[in-house]
Amino acid sequence: MTAHSSQLDTNDPAPGSDGRLFGLDRDMLSACMATLGEPLWRGRQLAEAMYRQGVTEIGLVTTLSRTLRERLEAEGWSIGRPRIAQAFVSNDGTERYLVECTVPPVPAPAPIQTVETVWMPEGDGGETGDGTEAGELENGQALRARPRRDRATICVSSQIGCAVNCQFCLTAKLGLQRNLTAGEIAGQVVAVLDRHGVEIGKERVNLVFMGMGEPFLNYEHWIAAVRLLVNEVGISPQRMTVSTSGIVPGIERFAEEPPEMRPKLAISLNAPNDAVRSQIMPISRKWPIEAVVDAVRQVRLRPRERITFEYVLLGGITDGQEHAEEVARLVRHSGLPAKVNLIAWNPGPGIPYQMPQAAAVDRFRRALEADEVPVYLRRPRGRDIFAACGQLKRTVESARLETSSS
Ligand code: SAH
Ligand code: SF4
Repeated sequence: MTAHSSQLDTNDPAPGSDGRLFGLDRDMLSACMATLGEPLWRGRQLAEAMYRQGVTEIGLVTTLSRTLRERLEAEGWSIGRPRIAQAFVSNDGTERYLVECTVPPVPAPAPIQTVETVWMPEGDGGETGDGTEAGELENGQALRARPRRDRATICVSSQIGCAVNCQFCLTAKLGLQRNLTAGEIAGQVVAVLDRHGVEIGKERVNLVFMGMGEPFLNYEHWIAAVRLLVNEVGISPQRMTVSTSGIVPGIERFAEEPPEMRPKLAISLNAPNDAVRSQIMPISRKWPIEAVVDAVRQVRLRPRERITFEYVLLGGITDGQEHAEEVARLVRHSGLPAKVNLIAWNPGPGIPYQMPQAAAVDRFRRALEADEVPVYLRRPRGRDIFAACGQLKRTVESARLETSSS
């Protein structure tokens, strides 16, 4: 662990200081308009264009007068919404995107930084192939008919890379490159909604903050993004889930958010006790399981809301029957309304673990059920295109590729 949220937050640029309007909320946009001598409701018009109608250029915000649009551009403003630079499509319908985040001015030649976002349509057949059919697409062009979507889920990144260093996770190999801004976090969602022509209000979309990075080590930007997604884009926070590796100060801040404005909470437990957990998640030495559970108890839950404990099954390391029994005891003793999401470990190059045997996964699930702990097995999505949990890492290599080939 090298990073702490407060240090990172202080070094980050102020919203709008780079001339990007995307990421500013209605009030900030109105204040910006006021400095130009424009009425405050111009801010609302801009917010609607960017967040509801998917407009990506100031010149196309037709609710503003042409003179005002030209003036904004002349003064260096742009919408600056993150752009899907590359898409990889899995044979199970999952799509993984490299989303381009423009960097604030830095000495040339600055790499174009990308972050990864995943779209998982529901109602498809889950993982089927070995990866050979995965199609790599450029510029958002689709190659094949998409599967029917009932309840799509977008997996969103909060940082480029991650400082937490979980031993089984590919993202950890990047280290922390940088925090994403609120606009870059919310922008991933708006760009993906746009690509799929999703109309919020008519269609159901779930968001999971389970992409690259640790959201609770970029708390300010992450929660600002949630507010944008709720207030401006119109997605209910009850359709959002944030996952943390167990950053106790972050969970404590989360507990202070008004219940009607916060996502659901998932904790990456991943091991039955601190001894095993510290080996695979060094963060456990700083914040042991008990401290994490204590912090979670401070969260005021909505009616019928449950905490999710995620549990990655590492073959021969965390997938034993005795581990399952210990997890069941831990969950019951926590006194929390909770469920357990089992995730069979997804392999990644250079990571020395093994996938669990199907029989071990089954035994683990049955042991929890026997103890009456609600348990779900998460189907791996898009493993063939490296889109499954813990596989997001290509960012840096791809960014290099794109820079050198242009
Ligand atoms: N940093 C946050 C959110 C992103 S990781 C967190 O750790 O919770 C999202 C989930 O993917 C976590 O539950 C994590 O334990 C899991 N994960 C990481 N690497 C994985 C892998 N290789 N296979 C399966 N799940 C993995
Ligand atoms: Fe970071 Fe989550 Fe990966 Fe751990 S599992 S390294 S916290 S992204």
